[in-house]
Order: sequence, then structure tokens, then C-alpha cells
Amino acid sequence: MQEERTVKYANDTITVLWRPDRCIHSAICIKGLGNVYDVRRKKWIEVNADTPEQIANQIDKCPSKALAYEWNATTFQNS
Ligand code: SF4
Repeated sequence: MQEERTVKYANDTITVLWRPDRCIHSAICIKGLGNVYDVRRKKWIEVNADTPEQIANQIDKCPSKALAYEWNATTFQNS
């Protein structure tokens, strides 16, 4: 099986995963956290532009699940 294309953006606390082939371009992420998601930037996801909790909450609203996240610090493990 071919592995799904995944782009990762990380800091010490959170890793944001973006699966571009799933994105339906609803722009919910951009409208919700425009400082984190900005398609005008080459690196369109900036994980240091808001708190990890805000980023995680926003990712939960992605309708296509193109966005996902993993906690990097064990103290934030919630799965
Ligand atoms: S919210 Fe999800 S589906 Fe919508 S543009 Fe962002 S990544 Fe794509």
C-alpha cells in the first residue's frame, strides 16, 4: 500500500500533520487561526504562532481530517 503524503510541522510540544490529498480547502483552519495557517507563506503552518492547545482545538474542527496532531511532551499525552 502506498504511504499517504504527510507534511509535518513541529515544535517541542506539538507536531501538526497535514495530509494534502485529504484537504477539501474549506479554509476553516485559516479562518479560525489565521496566524497559524497562512497560505501566503511558503511554510503555511506555523506551529509557534499560537498555543498548542488552541492549535489542537482548531485541528479537531478540520472537516476532512487533513489536519491531525501528536503531542510531543509526555505530560500532554491524551490518546
Ligand atoms: S480545515 Fe482542513 S480541509 Fe479545511 S482547508 Fe484546513 S486543512 Fe484543508
